[in-house]
Amino acid sequence: MQATKKESRGTKYFLEKEEQYGAHNYHPLPVVLTKGKGVFVWDVDGKRYYDFLSGYSAINQGHCHPRIIDAFIEQAQQLTLTSRAFHNNIMGDYAEYITGYFGYDKVLPMNTGVEAVETGLKLARRWGYEVKGVAENKGIIITCTNNFHGRTISVMSFSTDADSRRGFGPFTPGFELIPYNDIKALEVVLMNPDVIAFLVEPIQGEAGVVVPDEGYLAKAAALCKEQNVLLIADEIQTGLARTGRMLACDHEEVRPDILLLGKALSGGTMPVSAVLADNEIMLTIKPGEHGSTYGGNPLACKVAITALQVLKDEHMAENSDIQGTYLRQQLTAMNSEFISIVRGKGLFNAIVINHPKKDTAWDICMSMKKHGMLAKPTHGDRIRFAPPLIITKEQVDECLEMIKASLASF
Ligand SMILES: *Cc1c(COP(=O)(O)O)cnc(C)c1O
Repeated sequence: MQATKKESRGTKYFLEKEEQYGAHNYHPLPVVLTKGKGVFVWDVDGKRYYDFLSGYSAINQGHCHPRIIDAFIEQAQQLTLTSRAFHNNIMGDYAEYITGYFGYDKVLPMNTGVEAVETGLKLARRWGYEVKGVAENKGIIITCTNNFHGRTISVMSFSTDADSRRGFGPFTPGFELIPYNDIKALEVVLMNPDVIAFLVEPIQGEAGVVVPDEGYLAKAAALCKEQNVLLIADEIQTGLARTGRMLACDHEEVRPDILLLGKALSGGTMPVSAVLADNEIMLTIKPGEHGSTYGGNPLACKVAITALQVLKDEHMAENSDIQGTYLRQQLTAMNSEFISIVRGKGLFNAIVINHPKKDTAWDICMSMKKHGMLAKPTHGDRIRFAPPLIITKEQVDECLEMIKASLASF
């Protein structure tokens, strides 16, 4: 009996159930996971894999990090939600901790990444009208082509991804697109005095880990400063040690006016996002003018403090830098005819597949899955390699062998 029951709840069972009852808004790899620990996940058949996606960098600290889970459980037994109608005894500690950690006057706590983006846009508009003196409703926010900042209608309004926009209009006005990694284009649009902010990913993640030219971010920051335009850095995917520094902006010693964080801020346990800025910007939003029921809840605050502590205590930025450099070096040295580009920073990497067949990146991911490693293609021909930041050199070596074996079958 036991065996039959187990067999009937194999991979196929779960795939079919999701297909029937879940909306079809994703196209996952056909693997059903049931357990995670550190750099590993296990599927329903008990097969172990290296996780090379890390929940789109939400799991930088590794799956079920014991300190984060302990903090989670301890706080979950005390108090989980007060709403902001009342104070709780954790939010003040969290606000003090995260503002000190990143060097800003204040934090505005939200939940998902896209809520942090929306909050950053609202703050920029408020600042534009009340501080910079742009005429109300005339403010323009500059964004980049091939961006990814989330999925709300306003954020889709400046997406250049046709699939993400089709049939979702009308869109929110007030955004202007320029090409990514193009300082000249930025210089030109910034001449318009109605521009109030430049929203940018320090490295474009969903676009396939597109690393801009060295100096791009620093030059962009200087231009913004010159024109009294806010720099909003979306570090939701690049931040929190992923690229080998605490923030990707740190590579060029850039301090954004508005910093957006999410994903690994909770180590993959729950949606926790944050917007950091100084008083001149943050205090333009007054009580009752913005918020979220779950934003700043004591469970999220406790978990976020611990998730941030763990990154520092375990030197994850340093390890990300070392293992990432090694991984890229070894991938390049493979000299595979199917890899046309290896790029990235720290453990935020991608390879671009060069193969006449359109679905090869997907097929390679399926082959890597067979060899014990999970990664997902993006934009057809790119595969992201972004394992948890606790991966060791021996484990990277083992993964390189799996990648080699997977490529050999093509
Ligand atoms: C994931 C992501 C978001 C959106 O975060 P959600 O939690 O999915 O809403 C925004 N910006 C960037 C750069 C991201 O990678």
